[in-house]
Amino acid sequence: MASQTGAIVQQSLNALMGDQAFLPHLQDQSREQVFLSLAAILSTPNKVHKAFLRITLDNGNVVRIPAYRIQHNDTLGPYKGGIRFHEMVNEEEVTNLAALMTLKNALHEVPFGGGKGGVIINPRDYSARELYLICKKYVQYFSDILGPDKDIPAPDMGSGEREMDWMMAEYKSIHPGQPYLGSFTGKSVINGGSLGRREATGKGVYFTFRYLIHDFLKSQSSWLAGSTNTFAQSALALKDRPLTIAVQGFGNVGSITALEAYKCSYLQNKVVAVSDRNVTLYNPDGLSIPSLIDYALLHKGDLPDTEEALAALNLKAQILKREDVLYLDVDVLILAALEEQVRKDNVEQVKARMIVEGANAPVTGEADEALTARGVLIIPDILANAGGVIVSYFEWLQGRDTQFLSEEQVYKMLYDKMQHTLNGILPAFFGEPFTLRQNCYNHAVMKLSNVLYKLGKLY
Ligand code: NAD
Repeated sequence: MASQTGAIVQQSLNALMGDQAFLPHLQDQSREQVFLSLAAILSTPNKVHKAFLRITLDNGNVVRIPAYRIQHNDTLGPYKGGIRFHEMVNEEEVTNLAALMTLKNALHEVPFGGGKGGVIINPRDYSARELYLICKKYVQYFSDILGPDKDIPAPDMGSGEREMDWMMAEYKSIHPGQPYLGSFTGKSVINGGSLGRREATGKGVYFTFRYLIHDFLKSQSSWLAGSTNTFAQSALALKDRPLTIAVQGFGNVGSITALEAYKCSYLQNKVVAVSDRNVTLYNPDGLSIPSLIDYALLHKGDLPDTEEALAALNLKAQILKREDVLYLDVDVLILAALEEQVRKDNVEQVKARMIVEGANAPVTGEADEALTARGVLIIPDILANAGGVIVSYFEWLQGRDTQFLSEEQVYKMLYDKMQHTLNGILPAFFGEPFTLRQNCYNHAVMKLSNVLYKLGKLY
């Protein structure tokens, strides 16, 4: 398991080992033994699958594309996690993301284990036909280990509902006569996908932020005001006042999170900056997110990056470098692009008072420590970006009984589930010395440890 996740899991295990209320009958050597078993189970994936997908390109050349499926842990249910299409995919990254899925599902009480997939390509370099072949081959190579009760992939960076539709079709033809709707989630609605799945992660990211800063603080502000907890003071400083927000990444997660912030009537938000792989757009008076989404839909997901394109949209914004979004003087920075964006070498330049992790692992361990020391409140990925896997679970359930939910039902169930998790975490967080990330990991590790112990897996 890569450094940050592994280190936090170990800290959770240390805290749990010292908590005599947890498995009190286990003492001394047997207690130590159980925790060594736990550390071994959580720090390594159950299985690492690698294949080289053989594809004939449009120009007739044959290539072999490296691809992974990593199954971290299935204690709580079938493996579950996205398939990333990106040129920087590597085994360590996929393993780390698979471990994060195990913990995320445990935290939010989603009955799945953790897995993740990756294909080492830049999807923009491939035609639709070539991508179709890559998807088919991925399923062919991994067909024995995938399935509704074994391992259920979903979209991730660089993949979407089109790829899930293609993959499910291949799964169905390899396994004739068997249930197939639950084999992939994030499919198009017409092919058994769930209404609201595409928006779920972004909506969940914004909901988590809004619930913490508005609903939770409103109900708890009397005792929090007297608290010496640094994060309580950081959060209260943002309560009941207009907030400036910058969003890094304008794909599935970033664009929907930005739209939710733009539309929210609870808080007087101003989304002053958005960015993508090319550019940052900044306007201190606020940006029209619906116009930018319309533009991105017509331009392969990209934001306008010339004065002419902005003028055609009747939009006013400064065009800055793509990394400038990280350094703007804003209240809230939402990171929704990729990992390791805030690091030791640039953390000092980050001015935001609060960070929300829409992407997975966008803040490195060292940067996290530096921000925490400055009192910057970070809502971690494990808590904020679980909307996708939660609605994937609803999609999987709908595929089982072929009864489909309305969009309103899906969002209500999503928010109820996220609120349940938040209510289990936030009171303890504001009363304990742990960061919000550590608190979430402690909950997830305790849940997994309890289940593993009761299953007789720890000895
Ligand atoms: P996406 O491919 O739809 O969008 C990625 C965005 O990041 C695009 O706007 C792209 O231009 C931008 N980007 C790419 N490289 C960049 C760079 N070097 N600097 C700045 N921006 C860059 O991906 P997505 O589905 O929105 O996922 C974003 C993140 O959220 C990933 O870390 C993913 O693992 C995580 N996540 C996604 C989901 C989901 O349901 N899609 C669920 C949980 C977590």
